[in-house]
Amino acid sequence: MADQSPMDKIVSLAKRRGFVFQSSEVYGGLGSVWDYGPLGVALKRNIKDRWWTSLVQARDDIEGLDAAILMHPKVWEASGHVSGFTDPLVDCRTCKARFRADKLDDARCPQKPSKVPGAHTTCELTEPRSFNLMFRTFMGPMEETASVVYLRPETAQGIYVNYQNVLTSSRQKVPFGIAQIGKAFRNEITPGNFIFRTREFEQMEMQFFVKPGTDEEWFEQWRTIRMDWHHALGLNPAKLRWHEHGDGELAHYAKAAYDIEYEFPFGWQEIEGIHNRTDFDLGRHQEASGRKLEYFDQAANERYLPYVVETSAGADRVTLTTMVDAYREEDVDGEVRVVMGFHPQVAPVKAAVLPLMKKDGHPELARELYRSLRARFAVDYDDGGAIGRRYRRQDEIGTPWCITIDGETAADRSVTIRHRDSMLQDRIGLDHVAVWLTERLEASS
Ligand code: ATP
Repeated sequence: MADQSPMDKIVSLAKRRGFVFQSSEVYGGLGSVWDYGPLGVALKRNIKDRWWTSLVQARDDIEGLDAAILMHPKVWEASGHVSGFTDPLVDCRTCKARFRADKLDDARCPQKPSKVPGAHTTCELTEPRSFNLMFRTFMGPMEETASVVYLRPETAQGIYVNYQNVLTSSRQKVPFGIAQIGKAFRNEITPGNFIFRTREFEQMEMQFFVKPGTDEEWFEQWRTIRMDWHHALGLNPAKLRWHEHGDGELAHYAKAAYDIEYEFPFGWQEIEGIHNRTDFDLGRHQEASGRKLEYFDQAANERYLPYVVETSAGADRVTLTTMVDAYREEDVDGEVRVVMGFHPQVAPVKAAVLPLMKKDGHPELARELYRSLRARFAVDYDDGGAIGRRYRRQDEIGTPWCITIDGETAADRSVTIRHRDSMLQDRIGLDHVAVWLTERLEASS
């Protein structure tokens, strides 16, 4: 383990313990597409739930939405994606590899020894050309230009074209927001770093519609709210920072943009973008569809096209961030203890019920407790092997608490609770475990 890189350790743990598997692995895998296993799907779902709860449930000015992945192709023409959602691509005529022209310094030529593309005397790079990142497919039986549809490269457009539907059906008033979690697809030229940059991924996006002129103030508010959210997830604040987009970096729709970056083992990288998209998207859709998308402010008796402040986070990137941030190795009595120090609310398993022995009534009591807990909490039952090894197994998947049933349980209905981080143990009543867990989970929010 010692000679593995930090990312290799996480990728290997993710596979071994059922967080993330390579897609279609039996066929050799599909490039940069990943599947979430039993623990990974639970971890990612907990992160998405936290996002949804904080934005949709806990606020009265944001509504939820689940728009379809396939949309009218005119959406992507109007939004500028058909003409402008491109990356500059260069090919190497010698080794046939492809690179993003703006990321050559981060790339490696497949020839040995490892160098940046163009650095070998045999490298022959083409001039950069624009490569559209949208996946195309055909709707209906005819594979012809007229039936081309796209897999959405961002969820935001589904929100813009539904903005009036939500406004009228929910009776919201500007300022208000629409939040959505869903799949997005980008035919990335150089995907990689595990689930950091993939071709199929999930976004957690919120578009906040505001009166023009108030957009800069809201932009600042949303920056604060979103950074606080990442802190509350338990991420190390020293590994989070802002990156402001300079003139050359700003997307075609943005007036201002800040990324929240995390320091991964492969460097500082974006995990969420906060963008002031102005009235660009609504304006484009209004023009292209011929449908008036203005908001009428009754109180002020004025009409305007709202500005939009967007917060856009990748569910997979935040999941990876959570795993990287949680991973630690400790020396315990000369042995390495691997711990995933997840925030209890995102931990895929909250508690494990462990009968100390497979006899003397331990399994019966443990089963009774496990059955009573599992309708309310994600709990695990493990009776295999020495208790120390079982604790280590739970540490490795980040289970905050282990509940052990032992010889005293039958006598006085008490159990041991062992804490993942301190490894200290408490003794509490068997019948009090559910309340104890509820209190602990609430206290950690
Ligand atoms: P990058 O510069 O890393 O390609 P971007 O600036 O194109 O990202 P946005 O368009 O702002 O990204 O997308 C918002 C969020 O969606 C990103 O912060 C990221 O978390 C997520 N995301 C974007 N592309 C991918 C991808 N290929 N794989 C996984 N997540 C992604």
